[in-house]
Amino acid sequence: MPPTALITGVTGQDGAYLSRLLAEKDYRIFGLVPRSGRYPFGNLDYLGVTDRVEFIEGDLTDEASLFRAVGVVRPDEVYNLAALSSVGGSWDRPRLATEVNALGPLTLLEAVRQLAPNARFFQASSSTMFGDGGDEAAQSEQTPPHPRSPYAVAKLHAHGLVSLYRETHGLFCVSGILFNHESPIRGPEFVTRKIAINVARIKLGLVDRFELANLDGRRDWGFAGDYVRGVNRMLQQDTPNDYVLATGKTHSVADFVDAAFRHVGIADWRDRVQVAPADSRPIDRVVAPGDPRHAQSELGWRPSVGFDGLVAMMVDADIERLEHEPAVAVVRR
Ligand code: NAP
Repeated sequence: MPPTALITGVTGQDGAYLSRLLAEKDYRIFGLVPRSGRYPFGNLDYLGVTDRVEFIEGDLTDEASLFRAVGVVRPDEVYNLAALSSVGGSWDRPRLATEVNALGPLTLLEAVRQLAPNARFFQASSSTMFGDGGDEAAQSEQTPPHPRSPYAVAKLHAHGLVSLYRETHGLFCVSGILFNHESPIRGPEFVTRKIAINVARIKLGLVDRFELANLDGRRDWGFAGDYVRGVNRMLQQDTPNDYVLATGKTHSVADFVDAAFRHVGIADWRDRVQVAPADSRPIDRVVAPGDPRHAQSELGWRPSVGFDGLVAMMVDADIERLEHEPAVAVVRR
């Protein structure tokens, strides 16, 4: 019998890539969608897997719905990808970020403990738990936390719960400490996608310049399709453990902009990007790279898409979208 998976956040970037991967592996896939949602399946449609997912209503802030979903599905594997995933957005809605990103995982872990204790559980933890790390050393599973946003504090709380449930209740639950990962279906509020969309618009002559909040921020950026492979592998191990998924290299926002413009044949882009700082909320401008050696040695995981390939993939996808549907540059979930 192929395994049954329950994915929260199934309509998001990672939920769609994970659904595609699990469909290739012949899983039965249940996707949790919020009751209030309008069932927008743009990302799943984009990857051609909407028909492979069975949808079940549920919200991470609604305890009863999570218990019902786990009770009905009786999953072999649970992937908790749902989150208020924008660090900036968590400053606007800190309480909601805490309810979804910290209490949501707690409720889901409880539902699994009580109703499906043999299920394997994945929690999407975030490198933002580490803050900027204070130096340039690569951040590993042992790096001390220093969260600097409501998003990161909530993610750290959930991360701690996963260890606690593993150690005290013996659940097979793991956290993947994910560094930034992008794709053509990355939300348009994230800087990488904003760059891809606008460079595509410039290439097609629709606009001639755009604004960014800064060019000097640095991140360790990988491809979402690679990260969900690592996530799935974490649940196939003999013993549960936490793993950093990262490329091990950082690039600046300016590097991303440069690679995107170079890809469309524009060498001199300085006049086309204006820096207009958005606000004064604390952000980690420069973040150390992740150290993926644990995932490499235990999971045999390695990213398959490099930085230039990722940038090119995102820009090409937005050019194609704009050419086919000029009014809808942004994929709607
Ligand atoms: P995403 O594209 O923003 O997707 C988030 C998903 O969560 C969406 O399907 C969203 O549904 C759903 N969701 C939000 N609130 C919910 C609620 N109350 N109940 C149920 N579902 C809810 O995020 P992603 O990039 O795929 O990231 C997946 C996970 O990895 C997240 O937990 C994120 O924090 C974590 N992570 C991501 C990165 C990265 O670089 N992508 C790095 C580190 C960690 P709607 O669209 O209907 O709101």
